[in-house]
Amino acid sequence: MGEFDLIARYFTRSVRPDGAAVLGVGDDCALLAPAPGMQLAISSDMLVEGRHFFADVDPEALGHKALAVNLSDLAACGARPLAFTLALSLPRVDEPWLAGFARGMWRLADAHGCELVGGDTTQGPLNICITVFGEVPPGRALLRSGARPGDDLYVSGTLGDARLALEALLGRITLPAEVLAHARQRLERPTPRVALGLQLRGIASSAMDLSDGLVGDVSHILKASGAGAVINAEIAISLIAASAYSCSASGTLDAELARRCTLSGGDDYELAFTAPPGQRAAVAAAAAASGTAVTRIGTVVAEPGLALVDGSGQPLANRYASFDHFQ
Ligand code: ADP
Ligand code: MG
Repeated sequence: MGEFDLIARYFTRSVRPDGAAVLGVGDDCALLAPAPGMQLAISSDMLVEGRHFFADVDPEALGHKALAVNLSDLAACGARPLAFTLALSLPRVDEPWLAGFARGMWRLADAHGCELVGGDTTQGPLNICITVFGEVPPGRALLRSGARPGDDLYVSGTLGDARLALEALLGRITLPAEVLAHARQRLERPTPRVALGLQLRGIASSAMDLSDGLVGDVSHILKASGAGAVINAEIAISLIAASAYSCSASGTLDAELARRCTLSGGDDYELAFTAPPGQRAAVAAAAAASGTAVTRIGTVVAEPGLALVDGSGQPLANRYASFDHFQ
């Protein structure tokens, strides 16, 4: 099967009459028609074998994740997904693999009304780069720079389970089968919080998605906003779903491991966002309307830096900021 047959079979569908794409795969450029007056939100994410996923990962999960991490960036900006391109480097034409990859990708694309409009296909080491296009009304995009002292700091969903799965898959820890199965879902099939991002327009003062770990990523918001924050680490740590399962012979998840996974684990693809305290009811309504749990984990302060405190407000050593890869 040649390059063009491959594209035709796995990555070509006619554009939807009601979508933003006027022209999809097949010509030199795709044509998009965003709604008049809207701004385009654009983001790219690349996934590299060995770096971002294991060679033997389920291709359907990989198709899902490649698009999910990009949709997560649109969510973080409060943008509505319109379309995406797919640049794919493949070692060989493996039809069952391609079919699985495409299935996972199409399912998520359809769930978000996001159309594949073009891309590039070459032979080489397995590498997947997606660029997404979304739209947002002028001045309404959620940016990293808007956090103000006094704002509440929130995260959506759960934290740390993806990292827990990674540690297990790397053979560094052993998890009971049911815990690993759940955690692995979080690692391999993250849920982009698009609906929540849309609901938070006009409510959140800043937002970003969590790809590299809570402490490091929130620091990006703080730097962009010229502020600091205090995070209640006990609340953040409680957001690891695995603690709801029995995780060892003693029935508990190792506390330091849970801390590392939730505070600096990465691959969560949840939203971290800030909002003034006067918006608490609006944040709760946005969470309910989008069917996404949100938890208030801290407060933005004027003094730069990110401080962690325990449940009674006592400072904890912040050893987590530079803990990216547990090295
Ligand atoms: P060009 O040489 O003009 O860049 P190509 O021959 O690489 O175009 O691709 C032909 C068409 O197929 C283009 O419309 C391109 O956007 C599309 N395409 C190529 N690879 C992919 C892919 N992996 N997914 C979707 N569309 C693709
Ligand atoms: Mg090309």
